[in-house]
Amino acid sequence: MTKTPFISTPVLERLTEQFPTPFHLYDEKGIREKARAVNQAFAWNPGFKEYFAVKATPNPTILKILQEENCGVDCATEVELLMSDKLGFTDIMFSSNNTPAQEYRYAREIGATINLDAYEQIAFLEEVAGLPETVSLRYNPGGVFALGTDIMDNPEESKFGMTRAQLIQGFKDLKAAGVKEFGIHSFLASNTVTNDYYPELARQLFTLAVEIKEEAGVELSFINLSGGIGVNYHPEEKENDIAIIGEGVRKVYEEVLTPNGLGFVKIFTELGRFMLAPHGLLVTKVLHRKKTYRDYVGVDASAVNLLRPAMYGSYHHITNMTNSEGAVEVVDVVGSLCENNDKFAKERELPEARVGDTLVIHDTGAHGFSMGYQYNARLRSAEILLQEDGSARMIRRAETPEDYFATLYGFDFEE
Ligand SMILES: *Cc1c(COP(=O)(O)O)cnc(C)c1O
Repeated sequence: MTKTPFISTPVLERLTEQFPTPFHLYDEKGIREKARAVNQAFAWNPGFKEYFAVKATPNPTILKILQEENCGVDCATEVELLMSDKLGFTDIMFSSNNTPAQEYRYAREIGATINLDAYEQIAFLEEVAGLPETVSLRYNPGGVFALGTDIMDNPEESKFGMTRAQLIQGFKDLKAAGVKEFGIHSFLASNTVTNDYYPELARQLFTLAVEIKEEAGVELSFINLSGGIGVNYHPEEKENDIAIIGEGVRKVYEEVLTPNGLGFVKIFTELGRFMLAPHGLLVTKVLHRKKTYRDYVGVDASAVNLLRPAMYGSYHHITNMTNSEGAVEVVDVVGSLCENNDKFAKERELPEARVGDTLVIHDTGAHGFSMGYQYNARLRSAEILLQEDGSARMIRRAETPEDYFATLYGFDFEE
């Protein structure tokens, strides 16, 4: 099975003449359509808001597109908060963990909604920044998160969130301290490729919301389903359908929250991957071929541009844009880092990739550029936006050696 890139070969060839490879390419049309589909799927809930997880694609142009589509942002660090504030976001969620005092102070200063990861952080926040009017608490139910007999993830082993008992106590403490608005948040499984994850998570959180009302005397204003809706990195996987997911959450809402007097609760999401991953491609050219015990295709991108395969062994589909009808061969597609995990594909069947061919690596729009690093002093690439009118524009330039040296000048190293 195959994947169809959002750009045609002739258009891409014009881009690669204009912008040197490698670069990340984003599809404005796809991003807008996705944001609209998400908002539409939850339109039944009047307070619904998607807070895009900035860490997935921290690019101002992309964030502005999402802002125009009525999304807020979810931040985890001070620099993400700074960027969001500079862009004029007013709907900011701060879902951090192990948080420095300064970052709480800054989050309060710009009016971000603070989502506390730990029971212990209630006292810490109060001490270092004071308690805001609205506080959200992050829940970790422990055990395993399963859909039927399928184990999706292991919350018990996750560093995030607090236990049920801590959560109940936390809301009692917050209420006693004068906090006025409350929310809960939970992220129990990552990259789920099923329409059942959100509805099942919602059932657990909605049930908990009823118990919080009974046991802590607190009526939640919002329930944050966080991220975790995945994408079909493998073309064999079936894409999630956000309309079905939204409808699934609505059913549980009407079954659990509405009859218990909580029919006003706002639903929030913090999707990153689902919003952006399919709307980005890593564009790279074949530099060299090599034949030893395997056949290698050496490309000009490397793990610094896309870490997921090296870090998690993740599958990313690859299309040869300039020789799609070539004879199929089995190859490893590799970058240039002095690390053997710098491989975008291992023993992959691909049409012959000749030196100079342009390949696209799919689904790199989220957790792609942003996870990059600088090993071997490889520099970060540019990011390019394919705009709705079909033209392209650079939305981040590639790094230069001067960028790399900037933090070294003056330290036994001169300009
Ligand atoms: C990473 C993260 C997200 C986004 O996760 P995706 O898998 O990209 O949807 C949302 N919320 C929090 C708190 C996160 O850490």
